[in-house]
Amino acid sequence: MTDTLPSYLRDAWWSPADREAHGPADAVAVRDASTGEIVTHVSTAGIDLAGALEYARTVGQASLGELTFHQRALLLKEFAVALTARKEELYELSKRAGATVRDSLNDVDGGIGVLFTYASKGRRELPNARVYLDGPVESLAKDGSFLGRHVYSRLPGVAVQINAFNFPMWGALEKFAPAFLAGVPSLVKPATPTAYIAEAWVRILAETGRLPAGSLQLVSGSVPGLFDHLGLGDLVGFTGSASTAARLREQAGPGVRFTSETDSINASVLGPDAVPGTVEFDAYVKQLLIELTTKAGQKCTAIRRAIVPSGLVPAVIDALRDRIAERVVVGDPHAENVTMGPLVSREQRDEVLRAIEALQTAGGRIVLGGTEAPDVVRADGSTGPAPEGAFLTPVVLAFDGDPSALPDAVHDVEAFGPVASVLSYRSVDEAADLVGRGGGSLVTSVATADPAVAATLLARTAAYNGRLLFLDRDDARTSTGHGAPVPHLVHGGPGRAGGGEELGGIRAVLHHMQRTAVQGSPAMLTALTGVWHQGAASRSDRHPFRKSLAELRIGDQFASPLRAVTLDDIETFAHFTGDLFYAHMDEAAAAANPFFPGRVAHGYLLVSWAAGLFVDPAPGPVLANYGLENLRFVTPVSPGDEVRVVLTAKQITPRETDEYGEVRWDAVLLNQRDELVATYDVLTLVAKTWDEGDAGRPASASPEPAGVGA
Ligand code: NAP
Repeated sequence: MTDTLPSYLRDAWWSPADREAHGPADAVAVRDASTGEIVTHVSTAGIDLAGALEYARTVGQASLGELTFHQRALLLKEFAVALTARKEELYELSKRAGATVRDSLNDVDGGIGVLFTYASKGRRELPNARVYLDGPVESLAKDGSFLGRHVYSRLPGVAVQINAFNFPMWGALEKFAPAFLAGVPSLVKPATPTAYIAEAWVRILAETGRLPAGSLQLVSGSVPGLFDHLGLGDLVGFTGSASTAARLREQAGPGVRFTSETDSINASVLGPDAVPGTVEFDAYVKQLLIELTTKAGQKCTAIRRAIVPSGLVPAVIDALRDRIAERVVVGDPHAENVTMGPLVSREQRDEVLRAIEALQTAGGRIVLGGTEAPDVVRADGSTGPAPEGAFLTPVVLAFDGDPSALPDAVHDVEAFGPVASVLSYRSVDEAADLVGRGGGSLVTSVATADPAVAATLLARTAAYNGRLLFLDRDDARTSTGHGAPVPHLVHGGPGRAGGGEELGGIRAVLHHMQRTAVQGSPAMLTALTGVWHQGAASRSDRHPFRKSLAELRIGDQFASPLRAVTLDDIETFAHFTGDLFYAHMDEAAAAANPFFPGRVAHGYLLVSWAAGLFVDPAPGPVLANYGLENLRFVTPVSPGDEVRVVLTAKQITPRETDEYGEVRWDAVLLNQRDELVATYDVLTLVAKTWDEGDAGRPASASPEPAGVGA
């Protein structure tokens, strides 16, 4: 590894020109967590942060703006594949920061998993366009000539991502992926103790040659004056301690979106029913051990407070003691049998020891482990002291006395290491109160098979948590665990946890975009959004089912003739399908129903007829019908009525990787008086090209995705 870790700026590697000239005081040594050896230094002496931000806002915005959501999503997949191919390197490097291979499953594989998830979600849940439509059309004039719609378009600035030391990959990628998908360039600032792992994944991505220019920059070291250069359209996503978050939030100027994921005194409640011998009790203890030892307890989501029925405290401590004896081997992760590595640095261990002292002052008794430096397994397999390493054993504290009267420190002090407190409770309500005293947490888990206990805890504690996990015998084996946020769901929490809830799923992408209410005529909204709106112009030249994506345009329409509805048809359909519901079969009973004038046609009969009315049956570019959405039956249809259908191409989404795309059709069923009978969207797959003379030959040209520009 280089003596000074480079930064990645303006699509090139940058190092301080002359470290000596800037003074060695600028360079911070980063040490191996087990041996204390220097791994590298970080320094940003002479760095041009204003220039880096400007590069992102100009070059990065332009290159990402050329791509649609789907094109960006496919690049995320390529990045995930590239990291997967080199993950052994990342595991090896992570060992130097104290991570065992199991820890790396969280950080390295977890980070890669985030990229795969967004690559897939981006293509399934976002259009192949550059803007995202939010919610339904609002009709603002009686004649339909004035509409409103919410449109998300990307922010014009930079996403500055300041990350904590404990997850240099997963923590960084859970922010980079949604920013990239939104089309906003990232400037990543990793924490100093693990900056070399961030440098490694950025290097792997850069070496793919597939990063759009300016879409990703990395600062290895401090970022003096960074906030002076941020303004409207920029974002800061901070992960770290609550105290740093508070300082930085003050520095963020008006217009800068500042969000934080900070420390959190998470809880795990053992239900009164989860006594020893139950699956829930075993799952609870197993989870406690995992949270104590994974990343040596340096996880923002780790369990800091185990909240246990008062009579079960000794049983939980005994079971945990047995498990620790059975499974925990503390040492250098380079040694094979080690299951728990050191803390990231000796400074971090000193902080944890200070926090343990504060918990003892608040009445805590150490019941498992201790604060002395333990003998450990060294890299060569020998066992003994390792004074240069940042080792600690798991430490569990218990508290005596009235659980509700314990000092605030019990719920307030974060020992960011392998440390947890066991607190007792006398009623489920008291357990809920104790959870809430954490002042806002990322996660609380509950081990119970009793839905009444779970319902009380949900009602009483949900407002204090970003995530709640209920463990019982059915999900004990499959649960992703207390401490593992998943990219599909909210990661963040209220109050002390930082107030963030922007991470998780497509909302994390939308966090990088501005939602704007756009008002205008149907034609204007159609032109701006690439989605056909009722009232905009339509075209009925050729049956649209005969057009491939190369020819089909939104607004292409087919209007059928009327078809008469008879009582015989209704009865045939009823007996054929077995749907003999009285509204279709019994005149008196149907007439007594408040919604029907008498016997009426089945809604599904009408939808089936509509398909018969609009379909063009010969083999052609329409390959399949894969569903319908938003179906509403509006006006009942009686024998003697007539119905017709109007089908209009509403949204066209070519797939990037296939020879076909999705076409959403607006379907409207009307009766002979032009009253609305039913409305829905028909979903089809349509070939990109089609030659009527020779069914099924390959595409020659790919149509452009629909939607307005960046
Ligand atoms: P930290 O000391 O608060 O540092 C967090 C980040 O802020 C680091 O990258 C740090 O860089 C940077 N930073 C510090 N001062 C800065 C400044 N003036 N301007 C810009 N950046 C600045 O936290 P940490 O020790 O790395 O992480 C441990 C803490 O993070 C724990 O409290 C843990 O609970 C919390 N955490 C929370 C989550 C979550 O999702 N809620 C996840 C992980 C960790 P340097 O390292 O270069 O100083």
